[in-house]
Amino acid sequence: MKTPLMDLKGQYELIREQVNQAILRVLDSGQYILGPEVKKLEEEVAHFVDASYGIGVANGTDALVLSLDAAGIGPGDEVLTTPFTFFATAEAISRVGATPVFVDIDPKTYNLDPDQLETHRTEKTRAILPVHIFGQAANMVDIMACARDHHWFVLEDGAQAIGAEFKGHRVGSLGHAATFSFFPTKNLGGYGDGGMIVTNDEHLATKIRSLRVHGSDPTSKYINRQIGYNSRLDELQAAALRIKLKYLEEWNQARRECAQLYDHLLSNLPIGTPQVLEGATSVYHLYIIQSEERDALMAHLQKRGMATNAYYTVPLHLQIAYRELGYQVGSLPHAEALAKRTLALPLYPEMKEETIYQVADAVKEFYQGTV
Ligand SMILES: *Cc1c(COP(=O)(O)O)cnc(C)c1O
Repeated sequence: MKTPLMDLKGQYELIREQVNQAILRVLDSGQYILGPEVKKLEEEVAHFVDASYGIGVANGTDALVLSLDAAGIGPGDEVLTTPFTFFATAEAISRVGATPVFVDIDPKTYNLDPDQLETHRTEKTRAILPVHIFGQAANMVDIMACARDHHWFVLEDGAQAIGAEFKGHRVGSLGHAATFSFFPTKNLGGYGDGGMIVTNDEHLATKIRSLRVHGSDPTSKYINRQIGYNSRLDELQAAALRIKLKYLEEWNQARRECAQLYDHLLSNLPIGTPQVLEGATSVYHLYIIQSEERDALMAHLQKRGMATNAYYTVPLHLQIAYRELGYQVGSLPHAEALAKRTLALPLYPEMKEETIYQVADAVKEFYQGTV
């Protein structure tokens, strides 16, 4: 039997009736874009993360772009961010005309290291874009303290971490604004693309609401106040996501339990298991381990029918698309080292204990020959 990295179809089967009914309800309603389902989902997601406003958009990348644009970040501005993330994080900064400045990560948590923010500060720095990578909340207390000193805008990229917390506060309620992605593989994933911005800033929320529909005036769609985007969430996705949101707490808890079992089973091997910072929680979007023999271990697991994936084999500062920024190999050593060592093991809320034992056994088997 094959073990997948995640099991989207298995999850759908558990909620099939409810999702199908919600989708049929939308089809019958005749309203397909930015209707009542989107409005309710916006309220429910904002409530879930303890923020005041939610604005549904087409995907998580647009959520970042529209937020930065609404905050007035643009050409000539620098935004401090992490090199150890999905490309979209930095791409959004470049898309509004600003320049990403990469700050190395804490090798324990894989999140941006707040102690290194000051060394990358210039008179052009305007914002910080931390990512709660693999599901673990970044150290938002230190990040916000640094931002406060310099009056910087802080946008959290929460695409992988809906439900995670730092010091008891949810991701999405810690920065000036935060973004989520509803890409199918995320902890709260739709059946297509989707994204959301949450914020407590009413002015920013109003601006983003206008930007997503071509910069139009709230009172009339044919009065345009600024150059905007077409970035809307559709009713079918929102209706399905509202069903899934009801289970998110339970699913995140199930992920934590899977991770705990892995932690226990893998504890005596020469590999690094996830470390959660004091004060932070993780919703284990991915279960990431470190191995000196990453590629050989992945090949071994593949032979046993177990899917793995190496996340972020090329850190963003060394991507071809960012060659012009002029970073050299060796400039961000932690991100570069981890890009060669990390891999994700299968983990999803419906995963059976027995399957976790099988994966852990296959990892142990790999090391029996070498230690
Ligand atoms: C998935 C992801 C995004 C982009 O979301 P899309 O919905 O695919 O556009 C951005 N940042 C991070 C960290 C992600 O994991």
